[in-house]
Amino acid sequence: MAQADMSLGRLGLSELAPGVVQSEIRAMSVACDAMGGVNLAQGVCDTEVPGVVAEGAIRAIRDGLNIYTRLDGIARLRKAIAAKAERTLGLVVDPEREVLVTSGTTGGLQATVMALLNPGDEVLLFEPLYGYHVSTLKSVRVVPVPVALVGEDWALDIDAVRAAITPKTRAMIINTPSNPAGKVFTRVELEGLASIAEEFDLFIFTDEIYEHFIYGGAKHVSPAVIPGMRERMILMSGFSKTFSVTGWRIGYLIADAKWIGAIGYFHDLTYVCAPAPLQQGVADGVEQLGADFYEGLAKEHEVKRGLIVDALRDAGMKPHIPDGAYYVLASAESLPGATAAEKARALLAKTGVASVAGSAFFYQEAGRPRKGEDLLRFCFAKRDEDLAEACRRLRALGR
Ligand code: PLP
Repeated sequence: MAQADMSLGRLGLSELAPGVVQSEIRAMSVACDAMGGVNLAQGVCDTEVPGVVAEGAIRAIRDGLNIYTRLDGIARLRKAIAAKAERTLGLVVDPEREVLVTSGTTGGLQATVMALLNPGDEVLLFEPLYGYHVSTLKSVRVVPVPVALVGEDWALDIDAVRAAITPKTRAMIINTPSNPAGKVFTRVELEGLASIAEEFDLFIFTDEIYEHFIYGGAKHVSPAVIPGMRERMILMSGFSKTFSVTGWRIGYLIADAKWIGAIGYFHDLTYVCAPAPLQQGVADGVEQLGADFYEGLAKEHEVKRGLIVDALRDAGMKPHIPDGAYYVLASAESLPGATAAEKARALLAKTGVASVAGSAFFYQEAGRPRKGEDLLRFCFAKRDEDLAEACRRLRALGR
């Protein structure tokens, strides 16, 4: 596709460009829109933005708070993030030196890999994985090394982690709760990973964006609270999901002050700052919304989880039950098609429900069998009426 065209002489794409493809998630959303289907493909929550957050941002625009902020974000938001980290995770954080407000979790990871890694370094991630993590690593010529989570519950195989380490390994990415599996890493699993990180002197990059989407008694533990981790941790999270503001691009990271300076510099280089008035609205939300808001969010989504899991079961698609986040992986075996992408399109054609091919959540290596071709991912962070309609259509498959 991106082969250099000889007639263009030296004009052409970078070496990296041919590896960048439209995400399967976006492709399914386009196909779904074209047929007016119910979109359970894209991970955008259709739920309401909390009033305090929306009003805060509108007020900030009206009050003229529209210019660049300090490169690490407005003081009020950094303070609110530090207070929340202490309240909810038990992590003591200095808002002046250890917090960086970022352009989403995505921008935080991009700045982190630019500041801390070199081309040829290797980074471990757990599979099934979130594709942006892989692409972000590749964008700085870092080598992603997948480690498979195993069994129905996506358990961690600590021996497999050890076996994946080489002298080039510099870090691991832990996404908990995870997209797409909804895996919530247990404290014991995190302690195992922490001791490996200490033994091999690795960074731990976390993506905790789904920290408040937790079900059935599972508990979110940030790897940052495991003893010995604080110095090697870059904790990343954001408000896209919690406040239903995926388009606002407000996230943050928490790290030791010795890493924040360089990460902040690279963040400044690409994004300058996260949107100023939207930082104000999010600060209002983090300051004013209490435990009942976050518990309500989890309860609301636990009900939605129950609805989709039941419908997928009735459709004969054997769902894996997630402990967190808001996705379900289910078996695509009964659907026609040679690949998960074909099966997702067959499901869309038959029911008008869009899902994402499981293969999008595995690291596919040339010359190796492709993975995830027997799975589809369904997002359940949808309005009740849309989710009910999707469930009704899926159920019809089982009849
Ligand atoms: N991390 C994970 C695991 C996600 O699933 C997503 C969005 O789907 C993001 C990060 C994107 O986060 P943000 O909007 O904060 O960049």
